[in-house]
Amino acid sequence: MQKVFTKDFTLQEPIPEESIEKAVAIMRSGKLHRYNVSEGEKGEAALLEEEFAQYIGKKYCLACSSCGAALYLALKGLGVSAGDKVLCNAYTLAPVPGAIENAGARIELVEITDGYTIDLDDLERKAADSKSKWFMLSHMRGHIANMDRIMEICRKYDLTLIEDCAHTMGAKWDGIKSGSLGHVSCYSSQTYKHINSGEGGLLVTDDEELIARAIIHSGSYMLYEKHTARPEMDVFESIKMMVPNYSSRMDNLRAAILRPQIQTLDAQCERWNTLYRTFEAGLSNIDGLNCPSRDPREYYVGSSIQFSIPSASDEQISMFLSENEQRGVHIKWFGSVEPVGFTSAYHSWRYFGELPNLPETNRILATTFDIRVPLTFTTDDCTLVTEIIRDVYTQIFG
Ligand SMILES: *Cc1c(COP(=O)(O)O)cnc(C)c1O
Repeated sequence: MQKVFTKDFTLQEPIPEESIEKAVAIMRSGKLHRYNVSEGEKGEAALLEEEFAQYIGKKYCLACSSCGAALYLALKGLGVSAGDKVLCNAYTLAPVPGAIENAGARIELVEITDGYTIDLDDLERKAADSKSKWFMLSHMRGHIANMDRIMEICRKYDLTLIEDCAHTMGAKWDGIKSGSLGHVSCYSSQTYKHINSGEGGLLVTDDEELIARAIIHSGSYMLYEKHTARPEMDVFESIKMMVPNYSSRMDNLRAAILRPQIQTLDAQCERWNTLYRTFEAGLSNIDGLNCPSRDPREYYVGSSIQFSIPSASDEQISMFLSENEQRGVHIKWFGSVEPVGFTSAYHSWRYFGELPNLPETNRILATTFDIRVPLTFTTDDCTLVTEIIRDVYTQIFG
């Protein structure tokens, strides 16, 4: 009998009961807007910011409407302006180049390695040649590059590091929380990330002027006093007339949904990793399919898994995808010429004009596949999925 898989790769777990109760209480009160709080009362958004800043180990935090918005506010808050060049790894998701474009900046794409992390030699070369001052590092699909060397390169070329931690909330590099090394770091609470409020983003930093700007940019209507993960009021006073409102706040309802999820985040990350290791074990059994081994200093969160089939032709790839799909195994392919369902190929960011060709990134992504690992799966589910992939693989590649 041919094995088939029937579960949904996009099905998340329900929102915790505690979150639902809080959300209902807020809806009953009508006080959904983050600044709609009584004198001296801390709203849910402010409390979330305090708790998340503490979780990461940073002084300040701002809750935003999305991670993409947070990345944009980070760039604006740092003073990135029209024509500036921002270094960025070429393997990332559309909101990252979108934030760079939104800030009026140009993108300087950096190659990636077979382990899906940024190519540090290419980074160093481009940091030297481009004279860029900014570096947006996207830990795409949770792959963390050697952060020791990244920090060295940042110091050497005087680069300000902005981390996109959409896939590394809860992850660590050598015992240090992902996002705590960057000058500013952004996280997502969109449904498919590690905590779920539908949409949402969190920005953290120790830079008091940057956070003051980001808070005002996010649309604080001069009510920044109501923030509690913020610097002294005089930091705001000196800049308040010079910072435009880009309305990208988070509301109390989303914040209330998220607060209990911060408490359980580490335990959830462990659950992801149990599933990830089951996938990894099954996939590593397939000869000719590469699931890159990970740096022991990387404590990743396995909310998705990537692998490549270096020898695959385009025709074999399309058979591989459709055969798996027919058996209920939904696999994404990063090498597709046309963006389908999501965009992460740098070729589709044509709004930047002519972008340089990146032969290594092209070669790697042409045969790279991606599977979501939802927490609604069991380890048996993961084993079954890898068995189907192995059957399909054997059928096509012999
Ligand atoms: C999802 C994602 C983002 C942006 O998150 P949103 O909250 O949806 O804006 C940024 N970077 C990466 C790598 C992502 O996957």
